[in-house]
Amino acid sequence: MTPLESLALSRGTVDRVTHRRNDREWLDAAWADPRSRVLVVSDGRALVRFGDDEHVELVFSAPAEAPAGTRFLLGQDADGVVYFGVSGDLPAETPAGIRAAWLREVGALLGDRDAGLLTHAVALANWHDTHTHCPLDGTPTIPDPGGHSTRCPADGTEHFPRTDPAVIMLVTDPDDRCLLARNAAWPGRRVSILAGFVEPGESAEQAVIREVAEETQIKVTNVRYVGSQPWPMPRSLMLGFRAEAPAGQAIIVDREEIAEAYWFSRDELLAAIKAREIALPPPVSIARHIIELWYGGPLPSTWTEPR
Ligand SMILES: [Zn+2]
Repeated sequence: MTPLESLALSRGTVDRVTHRRNDREWLDAAWADPRSRVLVVSDGRALVRFGDDEHVELVFSAPAEAPAGTRFLLGQDADGVVYFGVSGDLPAETPAGIRAAWLREVGALLGDRDAGLLTHAVALANWHDTHTHCPLDGTPTIPDPGGHSTRCPADGTEHFPRTDPAVIMLVTDPDDRCLLARNAAWPGRRVSILAGFVEPGESAEQAVIREVAEETQIKVTNVRYVGSQPWPMPRSLMLGFRAEAPAGQAIIVDREEIAEAYWFSRDELLAAIKAREIALPPPVSIARHIIELWYGGPLPSTWTEPR
């Protein structure tokens, strides 16, 4: 089976230089270097330049111009340029063509370097913004020099960024029809494949089987991994799977999480999209890629991501 390729948020070309994260001297020198670039993230958004030629790129600050906020090392590129992130305030006013944008809005539009940097920076900024105190005694924690862990000054415990694994799976029946569902919280025509979080003490494959059964009462077999994409909104890693539903099963949705679910042949899917009866997730999502991998090529239509 062909693996997933070109996932929007699984790109990235900048070396994370993990061995530099506790090298304070190197970090100070990099921060003092005017060539270094700082990506400011504020509540999940960063400044993006939307060019006339549809070229979309991140807007960086020099370290001296960066706002106050938690700083973290993102990495170093092949030219030796060091990239930092700062969780801080964005300027209130921006020049024409530049505005704050969400990762899910621009993740598929940015080039490889910028898509990787923004995904990394949003993930770390989200963690710093929400994990400010020691979970054991409530003392405010102190970030390490590279900003990739924190330490409690009272008991010395070290704390690392959280990533929540989630599974997302395309289920097919013996006729190779694909199961698409509409989440009860989604408006109108939106459909996607099923997904859910991996629970403590559970394997990803077990989570696939459990989630499909919970949401549709379909029992699946032959669960196979197809690829992954970080989804740091706020802190997920999406693990993509295919699974098979043996014949003779009826779809029964719970109506609380899933409003409706149906089998689609390739022809039926294309016809439903063209008739505007359904809309698929956007190209930034792993769901879109898994559906197109099954379909065998690009599909028209996308729902609009508000943020
Ligand atoms: Zn503590």
